[in-house]
Amino acid sequence: MKVIDHLRKANGTLLSFEILPPLKGRDIRSIYEGIDPLLEFKPSFINVTYHREEVIYKERGHGLLQKIRLRKRPGTVGICAMIKAKYNVDSVPHLICGGFSKEDTEDALIELNFLGIDNVLALRGDAVKNEPHFIPERDGHAHAVELIDQISSLNRGKYMYEEEQEAAPTDLCIGAACYPEKHPEALNMSTDMAYLKKKVEAGAEYLVTQMFFDNSKYFAFVDECRANGITVPIIPGLKPITNRKQTKFLPKTFHIDLPVDYTNALERCKNDDEVKQMGIEFGIQQAKELKAAGVPCLHFYTMGRSEAVRAIVQEVF
Ligand code: FAD
Repeated sequence: MKVIDHLRKANGTLLSFEILPPLKGRDIRSIYEGIDPLLEFKPSFINVTYHREEVIYKERGHGLLQKIRLRKRPGTVGICAMIKAKYNVDSVPHLICGGFSKEDTEDALIELNFLGIDNVLALRGDAVKNEPHFIPERDGHAHAVELIDQISSLNRGKYMYEEEQEAAPTDLCIGAACYPEKHPEALNMSTDMAYLKKKVEAGAEYLVTQMFFDNSKYFAFVDECRANGITVPIIPGLKPITNRKQTKFLPKTFHIDLPVDYTNALERCKNDDEVKQMGIEFGIQQAKELKAAGVPCLHFYTMGRSEAVRAIVQEVF
């Protein structure tokens, strides 16, 4: 079933979460271990991230380095198919522009269609490590809006080449990303909002936010979207902090602020166990407030660990 249909039929706030494919070489059990503890809370859908290749250099002796392009976390589509088959839960594969030509994208969408997957979260993706900015594939998309446009075209039965124009349409529900604290590359909130609106006009039926820790920023962002004529559901993305290291890299990586009461509480924590407990308590408060405000769904970023998410969800649902 499509995410948008789950949202339309919902009688209250839904639950969903995001998982990462395991590192290459790890087996699928690590995925089951992430999903199983959350199943009893009846998630409406589970997102699976997509990870593009990274450039690494291997020592080959005599001072020689071999440049290798390696995808460390392959398997997004396979995991999505497994989630539907094993758990009977709808899955949402993430699809990015980076590394895909338009034809690669078309083929990937056909594959999702054949697998009976009804959803896709359409993203641009980030720059490859060691590259200063995002470089689209030759004949690929430079922005998520173009990818959304291609998916919408395929949903209308419009394939890339003339001779395929009579072909069968796909029927994928399209989601897109949004940033209550602004996308890091955006010149300002106003341009970011204008481009976000274009994604919705191109066919995004709902939005999922970047993680945030200050609910007032989410509420202000939703108001701003509504004032700009963006009317689709905006699902808040939540991430419980579970160790001190995350407090260093999350704000830097995702360009988000931690609220002052959070950082004050953090300073009082003596070790990572206390940081984790504090992250859970804060997550419970945050999720309860959002649910009380009637958000369409609470979407948790598990980043491969479901223990803290479970502790929050069992207090909130
Ligand atoms: P876009 O919508 O293309 O926006 C990128 C930037 O370009 C913004 O600053 C925007 O203002 C600007 N912009 C947009 N359109 C235009 C235009 N037409 N002309 C000029 N400027 C424009 N990354 C992954 O690699 N894999 C994942 O699985 C993944 N999942 C994610 C899930 C969520 C919910 C979120 C919030 C992010 C996720 N990301 C993922 C990260 C995402 O790929 C990055 O944040 C990326 O930098 C931007 O993606 P986007 O789809 O928002 O891009």
